[in-house]
Amino acid sequence: MTKRPVKERIKNFEEVASGYSRQEAIAEAKRCLQCKKPLCVNGCPVQINIPKFIKEISEGKFDEAIKTLKEANNLPGICGRVCPQEIQCEALCVLGKKGKPIDIGTLERFASDEGQSPLVSSGNTQGGQVAVVGSGPAGLTCAGELAKMGYDVTIFESLHKAGGVLRYGIPEFRMPRDILDSEIQYVKDLGVKIRCDVLIGKTFTIDELFKAEYKAIFIASGAGAPQFLNIEGENANGVYSANEFLTRANLMKAHDEEYHTPIKVGKKVGVIGGGNVAMDSARVAVRLGVEVYLIYRRTEKEMPARIEERENAKEEGVKFKILTQPVKIKTDNEGWIKELECLQMQLGKPDESGRRRPIPVKNSDFSIPLDTLIIAIGQKPNPLIASYTKGLKTREDGTIIADGKTGATSIKGVFAGGDIATGAATVIEAMGAGRRAAKAMDEYIRNKN
Ligand code: FAD
Repeated sequence: MTKRPVKERIKNFEEVASGYSRQEAIAEAKRCLQCKKPLCVNGCPVQINIPKFIKEISEGKFDEAIKTLKEANNLPGICGRVCPQEIQCEALCVLGKKGKPIDIGTLERFASDEGQSPLVSSGNTQGGQVAVVGSGPAGLTCAGELAKMGYDVTIFESLHKAGGVLRYGIPEFRMPRDILDSEIQYVKDLGVKIRCDVLIGKTFTIDELFKAEYKAIFIASGAGAPQFLNIEGENANGVYSANEFLTRANLMKAHDEEYHTPIKVGKKVGVIGGGNVAMDSARVAVRLGVEVYLIYRRTEKEMPARIEERENAKEEGVKFKILTQPVKIKTDNEGWIKELECLQMQLGKPDESGRRRPIPVKNSDFSIPLDTLIIAIGQKPNPLIASYTKGLKTREDGTIIADGKTGATSIKGVFAGGDIATGAATVIEAMGAGRRAAKAMDEYIRNKN
């Protein structure tokens, strides 16, 4: 895969990575050994028939390849771009044992961009009405699968645009919006209706949806509430949660002078965290023309962000300040952040996450002058739906308790999946949950009738 030159890409939000040409895709696909027992499929949470679509690419049958992909995955253009294939399907590719695994992700992206997707809608809605809450990858997948089975599906989305994190979280330079729009359009073409600006829990409760004759409901409301550090000064001006910062940039186009929703960033921006959210925040900040520090309490080795995204961030000039723990935010007389007080850390023994625990070094406090701080240390579910739905059992962290295989919750007919049930995870895991829940909802409705 090739990338646009750094100098050029940090000036705008256009996609950084470019996919394969036809020739490159065919050459890469021809490397596939077409294993009789393909291990790669076991690494795919939605069980795409990987060898089949790769063989079709190798034979130049691109429309066939996209058809194969869409049998298991309604959103291949998205997955081909943002899935962590290196720890899923590609990690199990036998070619990876001695050399380079097949670049399954880029081939998936190629097939999606190149092939003509056929509609596989059943065309009927005799199954009755079902409701899906949230239009992220879990909701879109579940809705698409149910529509294919012949249900009349409505997605209720609280924001004014569909897509969930793919729309408001992941920046355009990783997830071009024309690709997202066309994959959402595909789900709509399957017959799914999307009603935006509807906040389930407030506009309608789950009980009201049942009263309105929805036979089953899938809650896929994600983990959109930010977590904070709980340190002194965190409510200073100039301190953003990554959710707010990215939503302003991605959904409200704060970087575009034509929009009246700017982000004030000053000259020096700190981003706290080491995951994909932190990398996205840092890379958006770079594109706003400022100096960016990524502040993380462990070392780069322990960072949960994809290696590719870490490399991109460094190439684009993000300065990594590792083994650094923020302890206090200092402000000027008007309440704006001016400095982040930190401690130097060292790594101790592994903790419950399996990663080595950061321990403060004695008398090591130091300050980083900053105009803006973005906190990207994790997300948790918004408690709204659970608090308005009697009998819906949740864990202490706010995630809905749902069966791992079916998504069934403590309320009959209510299913849940994606980040709302697992806590912040990945796009493909959310899609896998949506797919499994659609099957279980179909069984539930059939048994009820
Ligand atoms: P979401 O995508 O969060 O969608 C939930 C939707 O429900 C939202 O649209 C929300 O507005 C809506 N909603 C919430 N409450 C209500 C309500 N009460 N009524 C109606 N609608 C409601 N994963 C990867 O695999 N690769 C990556 O590179 C990657 N990068 C990421 C970068 C960022 C910045 C973030 C935040 C996450 C990233 N992830 C990545 C994680 C991935 O995006 C999530 O795991 C995934 O989107 C979860 O899907 P979901 O459908 O469960 O929820």
